[in-house]
Amino acid sequence: MAILYSLFLKPTRRSHCVRLKKLRSETCNSRLYICKSCLGGIETFKILCKRQLAQGIKSFDIHAPLIARKNEPGQFVVLRIDDKGERIPLTISKSNPREGTITVVFQEVGKTTRQLGMLREGDEVLDLVGPLGKPSEVEKFGTVVIVGGGVGTAEAYPEACALKKAGNKIITIIGARSKDLLILEKEMGEVSDEIYIATDDGSKGHHGFVTDILTRLIEAHVKIDRVVGIGPTAMMRRVADITRPHQIKTIVSLNPIMLDATGMCGVCRVIVGGETKLTCTDGPAFDAHLVDFDLLTARQRIYLEEEKLSLQQAEERGQNLQ
Ligand code: FAD
Ligand code: MG
Repeated sequence: MAILYSLFLKPTRRSHCVRLKKLRSETCNSRLYICKSCLGGIETFKILCKRQLAQGIKSFDIHAPLIARKNEPGQFVVLRIDDKGERIPLTISKSNPREGTITVVFQEVGKTTRQLGMLREGDEVLDLVGPLGKPSEVEKFGTVVIVGGGVGTAEAYPEACALKKAGNKIITIIGARSKDLLILEKEMGEVSDEIYIATDDGSKGHHGFVTDILTRLIEAHVKIDRVVGIGPTAMMRRVADITRPHQIKTIVSLNPIMLDATGMCGVCRVIVGGETKLTCTDGPAFDAHLVDFDLLTARQRIYLEEEKLSLQQAEERGQNLQ
């Protein structure tokens, strides 16, 4: 009940203060830390460093020592800016237990992410829940191709680091619409044995899609033991279609609309191998060859009208979110 209260009820001043709940999730076997930052609270989620990585893509280092200590690659947080805001999931792109920080990278696509992008260093977000989701499978597979599209590159980065550390050869393919939108090229290059770049407009690297490079590697008979694809759903679907005939194990990190992120609401349900799975507690990573991408795509678009309206209304209220 305590968790329900802290997640869903509009916090009063009293409910805000000095609340630190340490709970064990029954479903994903990771610890959840729910903290309220106010009235001399135990943990405050202050933005310690803000960077602009590309047009419309920003990163924050946020003070969150408990989450930083527990995080494993592939996990995410759910963030709420203020007590009127919605809850949004963001992948933990990096964690630094020594400094007590986590890094999130986000693309400003709608009301909440634009509002988030307006925050400055020194500001705080109201709450962060995490680390959530199952950690990714990390072992020595051999050669792993990491395919990152757009902001998905930031989500792929912790996987690349962990898989490299486990002794794998890492071939990275990252892409964006144009070179100005490419992110983490240097960081990805540092953990990769080989790196390829693709841009839709040809402004850098291959003129075309990341998936063209994956096809080219397969056609050149490069030995590939595993592919990890993280990015827009259409890209992950294409990665799955390319590797399926070659029976190359392929993992994708799904991004359906998610609400409570602890397995209670069912909003993030997807069909994988004919079974209903919850992305928040069974994922977010799944075997790409078993994912029902038609259903995922349809469910991601369910609230498009409301999302547009919410942005429009925020602007009418005078919140300049540009
Ligand atoms: P809106 O205008 O409300 O929505 C724009 C689109 O974003 C929608 O059409 C929908 O497809 C998606 N979306 C909206 N609300 C949600 C929601 N509650 N949960 C998931 N998707 C939603 N984005 C990043 O930029 N960086 C990340 O590291 C990242 N990690 C994610 C990890 C997971 C496990 C999931 C499920 C999503 C992740 N996302 C990430 C997507 C991010 O949560 C959405 O872009 C964000 O919620 C959009 O909010 P908005 O109000 O700005 O946009
Ligand atoms: Mg929204």
